[in-house]
Amino acid sequence: MTENIYINKSEEVYDAIVIGSGISGGWAAKEFCERGLKTLMIERGRVVEHRKDYTGENKTPWEQPFRTKVDNLLVEQQYSIQKQCYAFTDATKHFFGNDRDLPYTTAKNTNFTWIRANQLGGKSLLWHRQSYRLGEFDFQANKSDGYGNDWPIRYKDIDKWYSHVETHAGISGALDNLENLPNGEFLPPFEMNSPEKSIKKKLAELYPQRPLVMGRTAHLTKPTEMHLSQGRVQCQTRNECQAGCSYGAYFSTQSSTLPAAAETNNLHIAPNSVVHSLIYDEVSNRIKGVRVIDNDDLSEREYFAKVVFVCASTISTTQILMNSISKKFPNGIANSSGVLGHYLMDHNYNANASGDIEGYEDEYEKGRRPTGMMMPNFYYKPDSKRNFLRGYALAGGAYREGWQSTQHQDGLGVDYKKKLKEAGKWRFGLYAQGEMLPRFENLMSLHPTLKDKWGIPQVEFDCRFSENETDMMIDAAEQAEKMLKAIGLQNVTSSVSHGTPGLAIHEVGTARMGIDPKTSILNAYNQSHDIPNLFVTDGSSFCSSAVQNPSLTIMALTVRAVDYCVKEMNAKRL
Ligand SMILES: Cc1cc2nc3c(=O)[nH]c(=O)nc-3n(C[C@H](O)[C@H](O)[C@H](O)COP(=O)(O)OP(=O)(O)OC[C@H]3O[C@@H](n4cnc5c(N)ncnc54)[C@H](O)[C@@H]3O)c2cc1C
Repeated sequence: MTENIYINKSEEVYDAIVIGSGISGGWAAKEFCERGLKTLMIERGRVVEHRKDYTGENKTPWEQPFRTKVDNLLVEQQYSIQKQCYAFTDATKHFFGNDRDLPYTTAKNTNFTWIRANQLGGKSLLWHRQSYRLGEFDFQANKSDGYGNDWPIRYKDIDKWYSHVETHAGISGALDNLENLPNGEFLPPFEMNSPEKSIKKKLAELYPQRPLVMGRTAHLTKPTEMHLSQGRVQCQTRNECQAGCSYGAYFSTQSSTLPAAAETNNLHIAPNSVVHSLIYDEVSNRIKGVRVIDNDDLSEREYFAKVVFVCASTISTTQILMNSISKKFPNGIANSSGVLGHYLMDHNYNANASGDIEGYEDEYEKGRRPTGMMMPNFYYKPDSKRNFLRGYALAGGAYREGWQSTQHQDGLGVDYKKKLKEAGKWRFGLYAQGEMLPRFENLMSLHPTLKDKWGIPQVEFDCRFSENETDMMIDAAEQAEKMLKAIGLQNVTSSVSHGTPGLAIHEVGTARMGIDPKTSILNAYNQSHDIPNLFVTDGSSFCSSAVQNPSLTIMALTVRAVDYCVKEMNAKRL
């Protein structure tokens, strides 16, 4: 990518401003640029160049001072919250936000873990790449049981946009033909190991309504000509993705959407530009531009455009909207409904079960497959029998104990070497990914007095799992244990934990879509009901969390919104 793509000051009125360069921002910029619009992407963090800045990549554990662990003092000083993320290691730490500079608060007796990735590429560099479509039942769930508002779209409205993003991003998976987990445009799936194949078969015999499928993941198992032309090649199954991948084998802004946007010569990027608020013109009822604080020297500047897409990730997006106040919108821009900040959701991972598998002791796996397996939500029908609303997916896989996790083994010398050679029994584990109900009382707001170093009010969370989510996790542990016992696994154990929201890093809601402007922020095209040239396309726009990982839907909603926006601009309605 050329250096002159990056700008600092500019008087230009761009066709489109995109705030954020993560998964949603990358897609918005690509789609605008490819439709010929001069686009400015504004990113609060530093530039991370594909390949060059993957400084943790290709470092074996023994080349790292603490064998993948991070220096305690550094953790204490800078990463006291981020360290809770499973992907936080010595090779990835520089892609996580610095907690010292990014304070937030939580209401009494609540907790919310806010994982941050504030650099070019955002969390697209850190994500686990699980990519699933929402199905028809997911878009109807709120309407069926009355929690939250009805999604203003149905599966048919987004189907072709899923196909669009899957084809470009490269999603591996099998055509499983399931009612609750629609097929997509897939590259070949990763292969199951022998115990997994056998478990899948046994489960299919005993629980035909609960299929176990290979995880669908944003990896190039067989790159197409288009992927190769972008300099992306086949996944090497190193499973070190979160340190960055010079092969471009997994989807990230850097590997996929940014090169496509840059190729058009329509893209400029303003890095190190922390968006403080949107500039609103009350007379024309339009957003004129964006007010920015320089990340480093804290100076102020402004950028202007005809339309603004806010893609800063769920919580940051809503923070920006809330901090954009005017006479007309004293409680946050585009918030005439008053629901901005409400209906915050995450997924719930608080249940798991596992058991020993007899045999297969002459078998290892080759490579490190970067995905597990998945049992989609089997309670997807509203009339499914259970004592809670909605449902959960179960994810997991089979692994040889001790062997896969050698890099995390403690020990020294002979003892350590012995451990490296050890491969214990095969074990199969499942953990739940449960849906969280959209509830008005789960919210984020701006703290009345506390600000960060850029002068932006800190976020305060008041969010907790309800009894429904707890009951769901009890059921998930029971069902998983029952299934594993039924297929003959030994030493089966299960547990329910009580982690708080945030750590699934699937935060959605707070600026929801909806048909009624009195109860929602955005219309069916992610456009503000109140202000026509303002769009929000990240997870904040979700009406429900469903059980699927959110990013594929974020991508599809984003490209759909850009398509609509450009058509409206061309028709001079916007
Ligand atoms: C370890 C991990 C594993 C995950 N696994 C999965 C998975 O398997 N599947 C899945 O679907 N999802 C997964 N996720 C979640 C996924 O990463 C997010 O859903 C996705 O990145 C959201 O995209 P986004 O564009 O909204 O936000 P991001 O990708 O976070 O990008 C937001 C960007 O906006 C910038 N920004 C924020 N505030 C401002 C501001 N004020 N001014 C300017 N710029 C700003 C940020 O710096 C960032 O670059 C995972 C996340 C993590 C961390």
